[in-house]
Amino acid sequence: MEKEEGLCLGIESTAHTWSVGIVDFSGKVHGLVNNVYIPEEGGLHPALVREHHLKNFKGVILKALQEAKCSLNDISLIAFSQSPGLGPILRIGALVARLLSQFRKIPIVGVNHCIAHIEIGRLMCDIEDPLTLYVSGGNTIISAYESARYQIFGETLDISIGNMIDMVARDAGLAHPGGPKIEKLAEKSNNYISLPYVVKGMDLSFSGLYTAIRHLIESSEFGKKFVLEDVAYSLQETSFSMLTEVTERALAHTKKSEVLLTGGVAANKRLQEMIKSICEDHGTRYEVVPLKLAGDNGAMIAWTGILRFKSEGGFDLSQTNINPKERMDNITIPWRN
Ligand code: AMP
Ligand code: MG
Repeated sequence: MEKEEGLCLGIESTAHTWSVGIVDFSGKVHGLVNNVYIPEEGGLHPALVREHHLKNFKGVILKALQEAKCSLNDISLIAFSQSPGLGPILRIGALVARLLSQFRKIPIVGVNHCIAHIEIGRLMCDIEDPLTLYVSGGNTIISAYESARYQIFGETLDISIGNMIDMVARDAGLAHPGGPKIEKLAEKSNNYISLPYVVKGMDLSFSGLYTAIRHLIESSEFGKKFVLEDVAYSLQETSFSMLTEVTERALAHTKKSEVLLTGGVAANKRLQEMIKSICEDHGTRYEVVPLKLAGDNGAMIAWTGILRFKSEGGFDLSQTNINPKERMDNITIPWRN
């Protein structure tokens, strides 16, 4: 189906990013505008993020429509991130989506944010059935499609990899988001400091690693025996090795022939190098989602909304409640059958 026949407007609103994507039924992205809340200090305070999204939602919608060279009248489907995420923030996206759908009298569909990361990756990388490593500010999940669901083969037991890196960066006095700054610092060192490496079965834990790094930064030896570059290097080598180990074991178990790397942390060159290297060892195709679509974005919500709509039709209003804790492996995926 081409642009003239239908366009989906997708709203991403699970955490820091308010984003609107406009995608046609063949998967072409016509417009995508992101507005990211960056805290002045500390982490994400849901009430402040909610205020930020409320202030910006209309401008972002108008800008995305303008970029797609269309108006609200050309939109035939509304999709929104329904789960998982921070309740007060998810609610804004759901509210705006319901308003647009009722105002325009067009169907609405809710989308699981984690599944959307995989679907936009499959579309953009032209990949059929990948094992996916999804690493972001809110999630760390190794998953693959099996028995009509995106099964989770490994995940974090506490904080996400992106959150851990951002917290370390904050402790070191670096501005948010910390990931790119830690990456630059890490490139300048090869002095490895031993850190906790915590893989439990197929799951990961980053909170002990974070505490150990915090102790290093606060220690009297910081700036003398080792510097921030060494800490950044050791953080990356340890945590990315943990991710790589679990991904490799999931690969051996599932025997998938493709690996997809996605989420904001996928921008990291060292992580890309490590995942690529296990793929080469296993003769597996390796793809990383184009960076504009690897982080949270409305285009992935729009595209996954189209897939769900094509297989199941629109949602009843009673089905549009948010679900902050919903796991991706609870949801059946009819479009993959
Ligand atoms: P997302 O939640 O998917 O939008 O991704 C945001 C997360 O990605 C934040 O925790 C960032 O610090 C992290 N991030 C972005 N770029 C990089 C990078 N080059 N290396 C590591 N982490 C990164
Ligand atoms: Mg995400």
